[in-house]
Amino acid sequence: MNNKKNTHKIVLLGPQACGKGTQGKILSELFGISRISTGDMFREEITNKSELGIKIQNLISEGRLVSDELTFKLLKKRLSNIDCRNGFILDGYPRNIGQVKYLDSITNIDFVIEIDISNREAVFRIKNRRICDKCGTSYDLKLFPSKKEGICDKCGGNVVRRADDYPEAIKKRLMIYRNEVRPILKFYKKKKLLIKINGLNTVENITERIKNGMVEKMGEII
Ligand code: AMP
Repeated sequence: MNNKKNTHKIVLLGPQACGKGTQGKILSELFGISRISTGDMFREEITNKSELGIKIQNLISEGRLVSDELTFKLLKKRLSNIDCRNGFILDGYPRNIGQVKYLDSITNIDFVIEIDISNREAVFRIKNRRICDKCGTSYDLKLFPSKKEGICDKCGGNVVRRADDYPEAIKKRLMIYRNEVRPILKFYKKKKLLIKINGLNTVENITERIKNGMVEKMGEII
């Protein structure tokens, strides 16, 4: 799929557990571009017990956001990698209007895809969500559990509940998301980049809708 600029710089928005991670991985394969999740990058820092990881560990497990400056520093470095030249999929960034402006100052985004589900659905999904503490693969205790309980199918790592997937942190994260996303949506809608998708659907169906949305958007842009 080619757009006017021949790049696929994509922002994925949506509340926790809306399916951003899953769709991000699918789109990444489809377009041959990297999926960049700031949450994954932070979790990796925590697992590696780096200086940054130690600094942000408590903050993340309480469901709070890392500072805009720190996040942008990490993201800017990642986006300067050669693999991001023709496109990338951002999952978890931008998270507030300040971050939108930061992003806008270093690159031109081509598509913004918002996958929405209700808070109730998000809480329901998060209850069953587990991730591998080594490679980050996502599991659902009911819908797609790991073959061996607690062990990752892909790398043998431990399948655990994320530190910020507990009720208090979930409530806080959803509240932050809803408050901060409004001006972000307004900004991208004005730029005619926004594609809205209902997240209450099968994975395949959502991918199809995203692809159709992108084709339609290209028609509007060209
Ligand atoms: P996620 O995996 O996207 O839900 O991110 C997990 C946690 O990482 C968030 O709750 C924040 O504490 C932190 N984080 C991820 N992305 C950002 C961001 N763009 N700005 C600030 N904090 C972030």
